Amino acid sequence: MKILGTGILGQDCSILAEKCLDAGHEFYGIYRRISSGNSKTNIEPILHHPRLHLIEGDITDSGFIMSTIADLRPDMLFSLAAQSHVHYSFSNPIETFDVNTMAVIHQLEAIRKYSPDTRFYFSGTSEMYGTSPCPAGGFTESTPFSPRSPYGCSKLASFSITKNYREAYNLFACSGILFNHSSTNGRRGLDFMTRKITHTVAEIKLGLADNMKAGNLESFRDEGAAEEYVDAMIKILGHTSPNDFVVSTGRGATMRQMLAHVCEIANLDIHDVYQPDEKFMRPSDVQYLLGNPEHIRSELGWQASMDWKSVLKEMYEFDLNMLKFRLDRPSDHNLNMNPIK
Ligand code: NAP
Repeated sequence: MKILGTGILGQDCSILAEKCLDAGHEFYGIYRRISSGNSKTNIEPILHHPRLHLIEGDITDSGFIMSTIADLRPDMLFSLAAQSHVHYSFSNPIETFDVNTMAVIHQLEAIRKYSPDTRFYFSGTSEMYGTSPCPAGGFTESTPFSPRSPYGCSKLASFSITKNYREAYNLFACSGILFNHSSTNGRRGLDFMTRKITHTVAEIKLGLADNMKAGNLESFRDEGAAEEYVDAMIKILGHTSPNDFVVSTGRGATMRQMLAHVCEIANLDIHDVYQPDEKFMRPSDVQYLLGNPEHIRSELGWQASMDWKSVLKEMYEFDLNMLKFRLDRPSDHNLNMNPIK
C-alpha cells in the first residue's frame, strides 16, 4: 500500500512509519522545513529505507496539500501533524487553528475531490472533553465534549468535520480520541509533562540538574505507550467500516503521583525535586481525563498492555541511559539520540 503520514518527525508518525515499512508498505512522510537545520532524530533508524519517501512541505499550505494528495492518491492518509502543545495554544490560538483545523479540512477536501478511495485517519484528543463530567468508567465516544483550550477547540472542530465528511460524502474517514501517550524510547518532546518528569529526574540523578520547575501537578491523566496507540490507529483504518474510537488504557494518575513514582524508581525525594513555578500554570486546565477503551477492545480487539507506571518506568530508564551515554561521549551533542537501537 501507499501510506501517507503528516508530521513524520514527530512522535507518533515516526513510529507509524516504522510499523508500515516493517509491514512492507511504501511510506510517504510529510515534514516541514526549519531554517536552523532540521532534526531527523526520530526517523534515524529508517532514514535510508528504500521505501521511505520524505516530502518537505507545510500542511497549512493548501496548494501543497492538494497537489500532494492528488498526485499520490494514497491508500491511507494518517493526519498526525499538529500544533500539539496545550499550553502553547493559549498564546498562539490562530496558528493552532491553522494547523490543527484548517489544514485538516484541506486534506479532507483533497481526498473528496481527487482521491475518494483514500482512507483517512485523524487524531483527536481527550482534551476535547475538557470540563465535561467524567462518567463512571471513563469518557466514551458518546460523552459530550466541552474543551477548555484553543488546542482542544481546534481538535474538536476537526473531529467534527471528519465525521461530517464521512457522513456527507461517504468517505472512509475516522478519528481516534487519543488520551495521553508517550514513547518509551525518547520520541516524546521534552516540553511534555511525562517526558519532562523522566528526563529531569534522570538529570537530577546524574547531577546535571537541581530540581524540576513545573505548574499544576494535580491534574489526572490516562497515560499509555505511543507504540501501542499507533497500533490502534492502524487497526482503526484497517477496519471493515469507518468509525471513531476512544484510545486509552482505562487507568491513570495525577501528575504528582507520576512524579512520585519516577522519584521512587530513582531513589529521590519528591520534595527535593519539585519546585512550583507560576510560569507553567495554564490559564485554564482540565482536571480529570480518564478514558474508557471498551469500544475499541470489543470492536477491534485492541487493548493497552502498558499503563502509566510501566510507561514512565521505561521512559525514565531510557532517559537515564541516554544521558549516561552522552556523558561518556561529550563530543556528541545529539540530545535525543537513542543509544539502545
Ligand atoms: P508531535 O510529536 O508534536 O508531532 C507533531 C508533528 O507535526 C511535529 O513533527 C511537527 O513539526 C509537525 N507539524 C506541526 N505543524 C506542522 C505544519 N504546519 N506542517 C508540517 N508539519 C507540522 O505530536 P505527537 O505526539 O506525535 O501527536 C500526533 C498527533 O496526535 C497530533 O495530532 C496530536 O495532537 C495528537 N495527540 C497526541 C497525544 C499525545 O499524548 N501524544 C494525545 C492526543 C492527541 P515541528 O516539530 O516542526 O513542530
